[in-house]
Amino acid sequence: MPIQFAVLASGSRGNASLVRTEGVGLLIDFGIGPRALAQRLESVGASWDHISAALLTHTHGDHVDEHALRNMARRKIALYCHEGHRRGLESFEGFRELEQSGLVRHYGDQPFLTPAGMRVEPLELSHDGGPTFGFRIEARSGRAKRPVALGYLADTGHWTETIADNLTDVDLLGVEFNHDVELQKTSRRSPALIARNLGDKGHLSNEQGARLVAAVLSRSSPGAMRHLVLLHLSEQCNRPHIALDTARAVLRNRRIDLHAALQSPAHPNLWVEPNRRGRSSSKPAPKRSKRQVGTPAAEPSFLFSDAS
Ligand SMILES: [Zn+2]
Ligand SMILES: [Zn+2]
Repeated sequence: MPIQFAVLASGSRGNASLVRTEGVGLLIDFGIGPRALAQRLESVGASWDHISAALLTHTHGDHVDEHALRNMARRKIALYCHEGHRRGLESFEGFRELEQSGLVRHYGDQPFLTPAGMRVEPLELSHDGGPTFGFRIEARSGRAKRPVALGYLADTGHWTETIADNLTDVDLLGVEFNHDVELQKTSRRSPALIARNLGDKGHLSNEQGARLVAAVLSRSSPGAMRHLVLLHLSEQCNRPHIALDTARAVLRNRRIDLHAALQSPAHPNLWVEPNRRGRSSSKPAPKRSKRQVGTPAAEPSFLFSDAS
């Protein structure tokens, strides 16, 4: 069975995605309520019963829903978060219940394995929500020799060559295309919010996201990437056709399926097979380098909304 990837919600009003191998699922973020999550899961042929773990990028309110946390505690779903996320989570009863049940696991700068057998490599991002991470996730389907590699990166003001190195040869890349710079600058938002969104700790513009895609493609084997998913599009300061056109310009004629995930509804399932073209996605990429991640940010990581 191929790996199932579904963006359940994407944008400043809530984020959640599903990665599922044969019957076992991992949530990336849970920024919508448990009933809405159940409906979105059902729309892609899954349910809460399939979720064995959740992986948190950061504690902004569009990535963490208090009631979803309680539902996870009730269902004994393990939570993978960074130690620095504690400040943003500890006021939530669901988080305390998960801790009491021994279901809170901390990730740092090293790759780790989830109970679903997925290998997760945290990638430190630059954002004003406290410690914030993207991920390279490798999941094996059935008896396939090669894993499927997924890259997931949103809520970051900029990206680095090291991040691009670590996304080399992913089969599917989900990357933030948050805003069009002109629409952001000419919006009726406060100057402070505009500056924040355009700044180094805000969100990637369409052009920044496209440059990251180009950097990953330049490092990857031909044919490695088969899906590109645009994430966290601003409803006020972006338009799907602008984001898609910007992405298309760097994809050129490559055979890569292009998708723009929206706030609602869930994006239809993407099914990712292991690549049969002689490339091993578990093989370290030639230029992947050592990173410094896991240092809790000095700034507060309180949970607040992320008006992107
Ligand atoms: Zn966000
Ligand atoms: Zn955020």
